Amino acid sequence: MQDTSTPHASDAQAGIETTDAFEPFAQKNDIFTRAFWDSSVQTKQTDAFFASYRMEAIPRRGDGFGQRDFALRNASWLISDIMTDRHAQDGRREGFQAPISSDTPVAPEKVNVDSPAEMSKEIKRISKFFKADLCGITAIDPRWHYSARVDVRDMSEVPNDLPEGITSVIVLGHEMDADLVATYPAALAGAATGRAYSQEAATVMQIAAYIRNLGYEAVPSMNDTALVIPYALKAGLGEYARNQLVISPEYGPRLRFSKIFTSLPLEHDTPRPLGVRAFCDICTKCAEACPVKALPFGAPEIGGANISALKGVRKWTSDAEKCFGFWAKLASDCAICMRVCPFNRDFSKWQNRLWLRIALSPLRAVALWLDRKRGGRKKPNDWWANQSSPR
Ligand code: SF4
Ligand code: SF4
Repeated sequence: MQDTSTPHASDAQAGIETTDAFEPFAQKNDIFTRAFWDSSVQTKQTDAFFASYRMEAIPRRGDGFGQRDFALRNASWLISDIMTDRHAQDGRREGFQAPISSDTPVAPEKVNVDSPAEMSKEIKRISKFFKADLCGITAIDPRWHYSARVDVRDMSEVPNDLPEGITSVIVLGHEMDADLVATYPAALAGAATGRAYSQEAATVMQIAAYIRNLGYEAVPSMNDTALVIPYALKAGLGEYARNQLVISPEYGPRLRFSKIFTSLPLEHDTPRPLGVRAFCDICTKCAEACPVKALPFGAPEIGGANISALKGVRKWTSDAEKCFGFWAKLASDCAICMRVCPFNRDFSKWQNRLWLRIALSPLRAVALWLDRKRGGRKKPNDWWANQSSPR
């Protein structure tokens, strides 16, 4: 449905509550960006974390942390890394600290768009062709854009500008591999993250190139430029949860998100309240499972533990310093809070679709009880042992 009102109008439907204390987020305060400049975040473990992605740190012994586990994880990041590094000498770590540069000029002649609704359908079809698993479209909303981005040569703040005329954001969801997510925490599991980022990079660049060839502006983006979670909520891709992830009825929390900013005339989707918030109100599995207790147990609150929290928004907020500290200790990313979530299921199975209906109904406590024995970790060595030969 066309949403012709202001971007703020659908805040409540998207579960977003901002207050007078709201401030757009400065990218330099993102915990990963802080790891490049903030001595309170930088440790020997942080150095080893980044070095492990270049195989400079010696892989640890132990199931899921051997050389081939790190090798698969690092290989899965390769396409994203190539894209990210290509303009780093100009201060742009694209996809993370800067939007992705365009490789395609905007065609001088525009195709006619008589129906934004039909064009939205076309973009959703094209997004599937380029391997996005979910696609929603929403209006540009400057509140979610970084107040400034950083130049990675000296970590100074620089303007976070987009081209003139951008009106819409195409938000894409990318499924993370279920069998690998089941092995978190492990360097092996990080291959699910890296593969999704590499897929994202290709997908957003190709869709943006398609739109630019139609004669309209399109800027491909991953974690750079703007917070993607509010955009995913506004685009109707899912609902925000205690584990700080967007939970979708298609893939639960097992998703990464990317986006494309565009001037192409498009119809906008509306948010999709599902009942996840009510479920999280009676569930604390993620908060209990977090090894460093970085997730909150209570109701959503305004602000958070440190400068990496978004100001003036009532929401569940993790302690990003504790969370990233654990990642550094592992020398890999952690998503235990994704693995243990009751919504982390294969919804192609009817039993899980039935469970979802119960979980999103007033019988949610029954669904939580039914889930009590799920969410255990699969052994990384079993993942390697269970690989069947490709036919
Ligand atoms: S990613 Fe790991 S450390 Fe961070 S909040 Fe989730 S469970 Fe805790
Ligand atoms: S584990 Fe429970 S509380 Fe945490 S996000 Fe999932 S459903 Fe919500």
